[in-house]
Amino acid sequence: MDCSLCTKKAVTFRKYEGRALCKEHFIHGFEAKVKETIRKDRLIEEGDRICVALSGGKDSSVTLWVIHKILSERRDIELSALLIDEGIEGYRNESVEMARRLCSSLGVELHIERFKENVHKTMDEIMLDKQFPCTYCGVFRRDLLNSKSRDLGATKLATGHNMDDELQSAFMNYFRLDMNKASRLGSKPPHSSELFVQRIKPLRYIPEKDVGLYAVLNNLDVHQTECPYANHTLRFHVRDFLNAMEEKYPGIKFSAMHAHDSLLSILQKSVEKDGVKICECGEATAGEKCRKCELLESLSA
Ligand code: SF4
Ligand code: ZN
Repeated sequence: MDCSLCTKKAVTFRKYEGRALCKEHFIHGFEAKVKETIRKDRLIEEGDRICVALSGGKDSSVTLWVIHKILSERRDIELSALLIDEGIEGYRNESVEMARRLCSSLGVELHIERFKENVHKTMDEIMLDKQFPCTYCGVFRRDLLNSKSRDLGATKLATGHNMDDELQSAFMNYFRLDMNKASRLGSKPPHSSELFVQRIKPLRYIPEKDVGLYAVLNNLDVHQTECPYANHTLRFHVRDFLNAMEEKYPGIKFSAMHAHDSLLSILQKSVEKDGVKICECGEATAGEKCRKCELLESLSA
């Protein structure tokens, strides 16, 4: 099949727009979308120090790669990467090496923080006596990404969330009727305290499939193994449901995104914000104690 825009061989066919694209047109379209997101949602501003949350997987590697490419001419913007090593034997080690290679090829400084040094246990150790590893892992990782990027002086923390991730989170929050959490989505989620580094999601409007193809076409060496502790929670079922819907009704993910965006602007105006308090550890929290401290306590119990 040929590209719908030129005579070259197509690398992808988009059912939802009935269009085939060659490598050049696909990459051009992909980067144009990221640039548009950055400009429209004002993700990056003059003098920003951007820290990319890097895991070695396709989404975060593509985020670093594409930001680096787009901003290569901007001397006023600094770029660094931060990787959190949770201590999962045989899984994280490999991706750390991939992240190192990517950063050194781009000349980006990579910082690595480990659970072992920060919460005094690796995920493998936590796993020995706790049932829900992802709860601990997610909270500790989020906390470290925020506090360490803040220590590095970052003004923005860029994550690799793609359109599928955003939609899954939206549906999960709607299913759980958690409107407060739902209102905190978006490419530049509202941030309630100076203690939180502003997050940005440059890939938010790009389907996961396209992120994977962009990585392949740019020969990015990315980590593809699934974490051994990944348990098939609500997110996995929502993902399968959305993929099945897209298969049956091509383009439905895009209309769901439009619906989600319309709702998001209403939610962000109307949902009552949690007041921000300071936990004894010094981090911002909605309750008396932050989630990280609660979980750390349950580990020592
Ligand atoms: Fe952590 Fe693995 Fe769960 Fe991901 S799947 S949150 S890496 S334990
Ligand atoms: Zn073409």
